[in-house]
Amino acid sequence: MFDVAVVGGGLAGLVNAILLKKKNYSVVLFEEKEYPFHRVCGEYISNEVIPFLKFHDIFPGEFEPSTISRFRLSSTSGKLLEMKLDLGGFGISRYVFDHWLAQHARTLGVQLHEKERVNAIRYQGNSHTIETSKNVYESRLLIGSFGKKTRLDNDLKRKFVSKKAPYVGVKYHIKTDLVDADSIELHNFSGGYCGISKVENSTYNLCYLSHRDNLRKFKEVPLMEREVVQQNPFLKKLFSESEFLFEKPVVINEISFEKKEPVFNHILMSGDSAGMITPLCGNGMAMAIHSSKLLAEVADEFLSGKVERDELEKSYSKAWNSTFSARHWAGRKIQGLFGSPASSEFAVVLGKTFRPVANYLMSKTHGEPF
Ligand SMILES: Cc1cc2nc3c(=O)[nH]c(=O)nc-3n(C[C@H](O)[C@H](O)[C@H](O)COP(=O)(O)OP(=O)(O)OC[C@H]3O[C@@H](n4cnc5c(N)ncnc54)[C@H](O)[C@@H]3O)c2cc1C
Repeated sequence: MFDVAVVGGGLAGLVNAILLKKKNYSVVLFEEKEYPFHRVCGEYISNEVIPFLKFHDIFPGEFEPSTISRFRLSSTSGKLLEMKLDLGGFGISRYVFDHWLAQHARTLGVQLHEKERVNAIRYQGNSHTIETSKNVYESRLLIGSFGKKTRLDNDLKRKFVSKKAPYVGVKYHIKTDLVDADSIELHNFSGGYCGISKVENSTYNLCYLSHRDNLRKFKEVPLMEREVVQQNPFLKKLFSESEFLFEKPVVINEISFEKKEPVFNHILMSGDSAGMITPLCGNGMAMAIHSSKLLAEVADEFLSGKVERDELEKSYSKAWNSTFSARHWAGRKIQGLFGSPASSEFAVVLGKTFRPVANYLMSKTHGEPF
């Protein structure tokens, strides 16, 4: 019997595993893929996580992540707003960061099982049984960090799975000299928006979220890009004058920003499994890391026998809601300002004319350094 089983090895799962292993608990982590691999993600991480990462010796400074302090936003027609970012962020690819964290977790003694998919989870008699593609395991505590939406969510019959998940995400790495190394750009197109910012090794991330109706209409990604995404003049230039490094993009669908539960069926959810904020806020990764910190603190109380399961679940739900609920709510509201000609023009004009309002809206989706 393990003290802790972690399902899903993205940032939330890896950081949870590292923190709890450092407290000397036995930890097993299941990841269905094999590191390193590319994920659909803008790869811009809010600086709010830096003190925490440095404290735990997991800041990936050796890869020389980019330092991002400026923001450029364009409407679908190409009207431009430029701002300084209050807190800013850094850029590092998930290919590098997740792989590096996985190696770190393993060195600490986490049993990391790659290429092992969790097929079913059952809670019975105060412990969890985990059925994977290879074996059956048991744990005292189970952390669900399996991301946005997976088959496990369907099997668990979580409420959000019955709601619409209307977005697709597409990601490339590119070489370009059209974007400043210290800027993150967000360009609107009809039904979506595309972010571009630098990661390590003079490479840029170009990642967009598009309403699935665009893909339905044009059937394939290249055609959708030509007919919709590149209608924004900045994106047209970027697509035609940059060097694309992947043979084909990484694509995911079924992206939803519906409300979820931080605890479900005695599983403590972390990262996107507990709630996904819209990518345009650029802080899903920071929130995944922060949720791991909250979870590891209360999990330690339970595993060391100081509190019962019931109390653990209540205090984690409370901590999660008070730290993240307002940010998720603001993210959902701001999402409404993007992806249509009228609202994206409005967002740019609002930002240009009432700069404090734009700063205020941005601050509502961001947290404080922790
Ligand atoms: C288009 C787009 C752009 C984004 N841009 C940014 C950005 O610029 N900045 C930012 O901060 N955030 C961004 N985000 C959000 C960010 O990617 C997520 O918030 C973050 O990845 C959440 O981490 P996680 O660990 O919770 O989930 P994930 O990183 O999704 O990890 C979940 C892991 O679980 C594994 N898994 C799933 N099911 C199973 C199973 N049954 N068994 C075993 N393993 C399983 C998966 O393979 C995966 O590795 C973006 C998201 C999208 C969609």
